Amino acid sequence: MAVRDILIIPDKRLRLRSEPVKAADARLRVLVDDMFETMYAAPGIGLAAIQIGVAQRVIIMDLAKKDDPPEPQVFINPEVAWVSDEKSTYEEGCLSIPEYYEEVERPRAVKVKYLDLEGKPQEIEAAGLLATCLQHEIDHTNGVLFIDYISKLKRTMVMKRFKKAAKQTGGGKPKSEDLSDDKEPSHHIG
Ligand SMILES: [Zn+2]
Repeated sequence: MAVRDILIIPDKRLRLRSEPVKAADARLRVLVDDMFETMYAAPGIGLAAIQIGVAQRVIIMDLAKKDDPPEPQVFINPEVAWVSDEKSTYEEGCLSIPEYYEEVERPRAVKVKYLDLEGKPQEIEAAGLLATCLQHEIDHTNGVLFIDYISKLKRTMVMKRFKKAAKQTGGGKPKSEDLSDDKEPSHHIG
């Protein structure tokens, strides 16, 4: 197992559409182990494979509360099969856009079809944070980021800050003064 580097915007790989996983084999298990180690180290509550540079449709999450036992969840080739008309708003963050948080409105509940680590088809109905997290991570497999849902003005500003930081340091998060008008961090969804 290894902690891998997390891609940060404006890294273009974050805009790739990931490929479906073809086989639930040992290589997949190594990828998933590395993803969990990377996510827990960050720390974050969700991660998509493309965030460590692997364009495969694999997402993971762990929504357990801080002092509760871990609840690792793996979704291979996840697909949104249904969304509720009812919406909810959550302040999202992303490990690929560190220390930036904005409210995003999404369907409150979703049904997701996916394969488990054994390659068996599964289905999950989720609401609340799990639904938000599933949608956020599935978006990553399609090259979509949560900042795509905020105003163009805000998106342009955040992209500018991260582009500037990438130029100065070769990648990474902007200096804290560049993010000073952000709200207090809640947590990175992933
Ligand atoms: Zn994310």
